[in-house]
Amino acid sequence: MFFWAATAVVGFLLPFGFPLSLTVFGPYRVGGNKSMSQMDPAQNEASENSNSSKKVIKSDAEWRRILTTEQYCILRKKGTEQPYTGVYNDHFEKGLYKCAGCGQVLFSSETKYPSHCGWPAFYDVEKAERVVCRIDRSYGMIRTEVLCSRCGGHLGHVFQDGPSPTGLRYCINSAAMIFEPSPPQNPQSR
Ligand SMILES: [Zn+2]
Repeated sequence: MFFWAATAVVGFLLPFGFPLSLTVFGPYRVGGNKSMSQMDPAQNEASENSNSSKKVIKSDAEWRRILTTEQYCILRKKGTEQPYTGVYNDHFEKGLYKCAGCGQVLFSSETKYPSHCGWPAFYDVEKAERVVCRIDRSYGMIRTEVLCSRCGGHLGHVFQDGPSPTGLRYCINSAAMIFEPSPPQNPQSR
């Protein structure tokens, strides 16, 4: 009885899982050293297509199973962690920040800076094609949402009040990322 009930639930969720994650790939992206006004939608579409074989697509039930509750709420349900509470807010060790959903490297400590906005902030992404940006009109605001290009997970938003050289501030939830510290440097190689 339970088995059939569970099968029915999964069967119900599956058709909605794919469109949910696919709708996040918006018409343009922000990244690299380009400002928002320099985005070329055609070029971006081409790079998205070339990256399509690496996409990670899972059902809602699978995401629920592999993510923590906090990761799931942010990555899959577009939640936002409370300001100044995230584990990486005041974290400035050398290393890489990976997507908590699929492990793709998104940001480097090299571009992280103390924005004092309450969330981890970066002025650039590791590679432009690692994120996808789309207009977010929720909560009566017009913002630019940042998503992982591989799994479609919601990461945060990008604003145009960051430092040079990009002028961008990628405002990212700590729980959407996993930090991997750089290996310790060999003193003899210095
Ligand atoms: Zn991801």
